[in-house]
Amino acid sequence: MGGVDVLELYRTTGALLEGHFLLRSGRHSPKFLQSATLLQHPLYAEAVGQALAELFEEPVDFVVGPAMGGVVLSFVTAKALGARALFAEKDGQGGMRIREGLTVHPGERFLAVEDVVTTGGSVQQAIWAAERKGGRCVGVGAIVDRSAGRAEFGAPFRALLRLDFPTYTPESCPLCQRGVPLQEV
Ligand SMILES: [Zn+2]
Repeated sequence: MGGVDVLELYRTTGALLEGHFLLRSGRHSPKFLQSATLLQHPLYAEAVGQALAELFEEPVDFVVGPAMGGVVLSFVTAKALGARALFAEKDGQGGMRIREGLTVHPGERFLAVEDVVTTGGSVQQAIWAAERKGGRCVGVGAIVDRSAGRAEFGAPFRALLRLDFPTYTPESCPLCQRGVPLQEV
């Protein structure tokens, strides 16, 4: 893993939040990883990008990530790989598209990256966006895999860290039962 203790980086930068969080999935969790808080530090971001790049051997032409979280991560990983850094943004119709002005040449090989993969939905949208432009996904990289083995893509999926934080439905959430205020993330 390139000597990077990812969880320690989240901790020391204050990016590992503890409390009571409403996740995008609708479930509740006592912990949340706020990657922007970690990635605001360029030196830590570069270390993470270097470690992610080292998970993959295949040469790639570009890296793509879903905006906003995937923009910095795409950049630092691409820098480590000597590749271009692209990103995908919401297309206003529930999907994603490659940002205007960023070109994918037919047959180009790419790595897709995301900070934390829970369902993998947004990185999958970014992959489809690059594939529609003629790119070929050769790998998917994440800082943290929170999917408990559920996230699958049509290419090898590797993460620097696997975490299995507990999550609850609102009805079965012990934090709700104790009246802990819920924060949206
Ligand atoms: Zn709750």
